[in-house]
Amino acid sequence: MPRNEQVYVKKYVFNPSGSSFYVVLGSTGDHLTTEHFCTCNDFNFRKRPEGCVHMQALRRAIREKSYEVYSFSDDELSQVFKYELIDVVFMPR
Ligand SMILES: [Zn+2]
Repeated sequence: MPRNEQVYVKKYVFNPSGSSFYVVLGSTGDHLTTEHFCTCNDFNFRKRPEGCVHMQALRRAIREKSYEVYSFSDDELSQVFKYELIDVVFMPR
């Protein structure tokens, strides 16, 4: 994976519970990412202690509040999560 990969962090927030999750978009597609986990191959196979570029981008985005926020109601959580999960698990052509 190129070191200069451009990544983009989206935060999905659900109200009124305040539940949230992050999706990090990079050159290898969309990834569900936390500060300690990522669905990308780089994280799951190389297991570097510092994590992958998505985890590093997420930590930086949280620190700088530089993510894009998408707000939904709690009723929409399962639908939105399912939609994002489909983007994450389907392989790019
Ligand atoms: Zn990753």
